Amino acid sequence: EAKRAGKNRYCYFSIDMTDKIDEKMNVISILRKSIEEDQFKLLYQPIYDSVSKKASSFEALIRIKDSSLSPGVFIDIAEETGLIVPIGRWVLQEVFKQLQFWQDRNFDLIPVAINISPRQIRDDNLFDFIKFLLEEYEICPSLIELEITENMLLEDKDDNLKKLNKIKSLGICISLDDFGTGYSSLSYLSYMPIDKIKLDKSIKDKFLDRKDTEVIKSLISMFHGLNLKVVAEGVETEEEYIQLLSHSTDYIQGYLFSKPLNPEDAALILKTNQ
Ligand code: C2E
Ligand code: MG
Ligand code: MG
Ligand code: MG
Repeated sequence: EAKRAGKNRYCYFSIDMTDKIDEKMNVISILRKSIEEDQFKLLYQPIYDSVSKKASSFEALIRIKDSSLSPGVFIDIAEETGLIVPIGRWVLQEVFKQLQFWQDRNFDLIPVAINISPRQIRDDNLFDFIKFLLEEYEICPSLIELEITENMLLEDKDDNLKKLNKIKSLGICISLDDFGTGYSSLSYLSYMPIDKIKLDKSIKDKFLDRKDTEVIKSLISMFHGLNLKVVAEGVETEEEYIQLLSHSTDYIQGYLFSKPLNPEDAALILKTNQ
């Protein structure tokens, strides 16, 4: 099993409980060390307008320097342990620094989307911190987007929604990430303060290859009816792109157009984007 999972050294399925706990302790100590020694970095993956094929925003994706440990593994553990709070603050500040750096060089900026875990929303200081960053780095709020998941509704729902609305009132756009991976009630679509919806790669993989592309098509038209823009995540082939375009998907993100880029390469995208 572990071998089939390929490079994912942290596949938990075939190892026993003690190994599991050891692995987890190991990840926790890597995270602590990375916080202390400032060993995180951000990559920026462009998200493209599906019609013009221009980059319309970036998504900031965290990495640990010189490590193959992926956020798919360590973010959950950071969330469980609360380490996501200092890590998340680092991510936010790093994005603002980056935007200021580009702004100072008169680059044509596009918004940067930042992934926010439920624990970070529950944190009472998130609003104040974002407000501080906007002022300190002199960044227009329309250049910041937050990506949240429906998991934020599992605990302290009303309180979290209040906090999210307050952040949104600063002029920051909110996207719902990983649509299709959570629980199935769609009622939250009517009260969540979101502007965009990101269809998880699994949705596309499940429906696009088969004859039932009607599902995707209807989903997208429902979202448009709710005034939401639709992003397809994990688009890897031209065929997928063509189908998603024919179903009026607004934005495309995936290896077909670009993998996550280091800041220097992301800057090249800004320069050639006009
Ligand atoms: P996500 O927010 O859904 O991000 C999209 C993930 O899909 C990224 O994985 C990206 O590298 C990957 N991806 C992009 N295009 C393709 C494609 O065409 N095919 C495939 N197979 N994958 C593609 P990554 O960077 O490993 O991040 C995994 C998850 O970790 C993210 O999923 C997000 O939930 C979380 N994450 C990453 N950075 C942060 C962060 O700074 N803060 C928080 N709280 N979570 C983060
Ligand atoms: Mg995301
Ligand atoms: Mg996503
Ligand atoms: Mg996803």
